[in-house]
Amino acid sequence: MTLFALRADITTLPVEAIVNAANSSLLGGGGVDGAIHRAAGPDLLHECRLLGGCKTGQAKLTQGYRLPARYIIHTVGPVWRGGEQGEPALLASCYRNSLQLAAAHGVRTLAFPGISTGIYGYPVSAAAEIAIAVSQAFLSTATQAMDITFCCFSAQDLAIYQRLLQGGEPATP
Ligand code: ADP
Repeated sequence: MTLFALRADITTLPVEAIVNAANSSLLGGGGVDGAIHRAAGPDLLHECRLLGGCKTGQAKLTQGYRLPARYIIHTVGPVWRGGEQGEPALLASCYRNSLQLAAAHGVRTLAFPGISTGIYGYPVSAAAEIAIAVSQAFLSTATQAMDITFCCFSAQDLAIYQRLLQGGEPATP
C-alpha cells in the first residue's frame, strides 16, 4: 500500500500531479486554490478559463506551469451542510475522479489536499476516512502502482491522517 501523509505546502511537493480543492468556476479562490494559482502563475488561469467550470464531485486536469508538479487536477468538493445532503458521496467522487484522471495521464505520484475541509467546512476526520478508503479501493484495482500523498496543512490534520493510516510511513518526497 503506498499511501502517505505529510505536513507541507502542497505547491512545493515534487510529485507528478497535485490536486486542487477548487470552486466550480475554476477561476481561483482562497485557501489551497489561491496558493496553487499564485505558485503556478497566470498561465494557469488562462487554461482554466477554457475549461468552462467544473461540477461538484468532478475533476479536470491542467498543466502545472511553474509548479514542480507537471499536472494539476482541479476538483470541486461539496460544501458541508450537516452531512445529509449527499456530501460523503460527492467527496468520494472527487477522490475517485481525481485518481482516475491521474491514472489516465500516467501519473505515478499524486498529492491531495484535504478537499472540502477548509472554507467548505467538511469535518477533517470524516473527510480523511473517505480519502483513505477511496484511495485504498482505487489502488486495489489499479493496473499501475501509484504513490498517493495526503498533504496536510496543519499538525492537527496530519495527526488525524496518521492515526487513520495506522503507522503508514510518513513520506519525505
Ligand atoms: P475547500 O474550499 O475545499 O474547503 P480550502 O482551500 O479552504 O478548500 O481548504 C482545503 C484544505 O487545504 C484545508 O485543510 C486547508 O488547511 C488546506 N490548505 C490551504 N492551503 C494549503 C496549501 N498551500 N497546501 C496544502 N494544503 C493547504
